[in-house]
Amino acid sequence: MGDSAAIMKLEEELTRRLARLQEQGLYRTLREVGSAQGPRLTLGNRTVLNFGSNDYLGLAGDPRVREAAAEAARHWGAGSGASRLVCGNLEPHVRLESALAEFKKTEAALTFSSGYTTAVGTLCALAGKDDIVILDKRAHACLVDGARLSGARLRVFAHNDLEDLEHILKWAADVRARRVQAGTAPPVILIVTESVFSMDGDTAPLRKIAGLKDAYDAWLLVDEAHATGLLGPAGAGLAAELDAHARIEVLMGTLGKALGSAGGFICGSRTLIDYLVNRARSFIFSTAPVPAAAAAAAAALELVRGPEGEELRLRLKQRVSQFQAALGRPNLEIPTAIVPLVLGPAEEAMRAAAELLEAGIYVPAIRYPAVARGAARLRITLSAAHSAEDVGQLAAAIRRLQLQPARDGS
Ligand SMILES: *Cc1c(COP(=O)(O)O)cnc(C)c1O
Repeated sequence: MGDSAAIMKLEEELTRRLARLQEQGLYRTLREVGSAQGPRLTLGNRTVLNFGSNDYLGLAGDPRVREAAAEAARHWGAGSGASRLVCGNLEPHVRLESALAEFKKTEAALTFSSGYTTAVGTLCALAGKDDIVILDKRAHACLVDGARLSGARLRVFAHNDLEDLEHILKWAADVRARRVQAGTAPPVILIVTESVFSMDGDTAPLRKIAGLKDAYDAWLLVDEAHATGLLGPAGAGLAAELDAHARIEVLMGTLGKALGSAGGFICGSRTLIDYLVNRARSFIFSTAPVPAAAAAAAAALELVRGPEGEELRLRLKQRVSQFQAALGRPNLEIPTAIVPLVLGPAEEAMRAAAELLEAGIYVPAIRYPAVARGAARLRITLSAAHSAEDVGQLAAAIRRLQLQPARDGS
């Protein structure tokens, strides 16, 4: 059938596509790390300072968290053996979920293997092709993918722009009114945002968003991946800090950042959780997370909620203000562990990262599609495990390189 010369061989086609990424400065490679997560990393035969991890409180390497993982592996095995609904629902999963619900002050919680699958499974369960999902422009890729995969009509509001959000909500309310008039089922309107934005480190005005949500009878999902363990009373998150958590129907978080383990979770009403157990396909059709991950997260959560968590959050806050001051920037009203240095073109960010690495400091360059084109950056993350000297060294290297932050045009 047809001209065989026109049939693309996989190798040739993919080589062409990769070359194109290379031309655009968007080619990626894996780097092998020869040490556990911590303020220092072993890369090849060098030890470098690590400002790229999301292990914001240093709990991934904490001996008590490690021991909890090891003990769970010894007692419950390396794998869970089956999905949660078959026979993989082990005590460590159940115990972690009840601790998460208590932590976030909700009726119930459900954990997933990753934050990514949490978002995709939850969004697809909540919204379908007759519904409307409204996303912040800078929402994480997993939220975008979940919204797309749900088949719902997707609208994007300008980052943290309440006017734009309201404009879209008005449109959605119109769609709903017309459906009701026509006697068809009204659409669900679901607003989706993050509390601390992963690439910018800024925060969402959750109280105001919740106000709009109420005014337009929408639902609200907030991803607290970068706030859980870090902000709010006992590290419960930004929603708790702003006293908005009771107004958010779907509270999402991850276990792989400040909690030092792996996985994602949803906190909410018992009804929401029962519904997700029945409907979230990434939960149903996936082997339960390994017991070690659940036990490690539970141990980290206990530390986070206790006096030590308080101390770690305070130390992190001090490092962040030290660093912002060294860059000559004002501290944000709600300081977070993520400090972006937006440089613009992908090549600039890549070069800056290479120069810092040369100086013994690892900072990841973040490019499209993780951020908008032309808004490539160094994404610096600080940890309570960094010393003041570590942070001083980073600031000095940045000054020496005379990096010129671009205006963030994304
Ligand atoms: C990291 C991240 C996720 C994904 O979580 P994983 O557990 O890494 O899959 C989801 N949302 C946000 C905002 C994140 O930063």
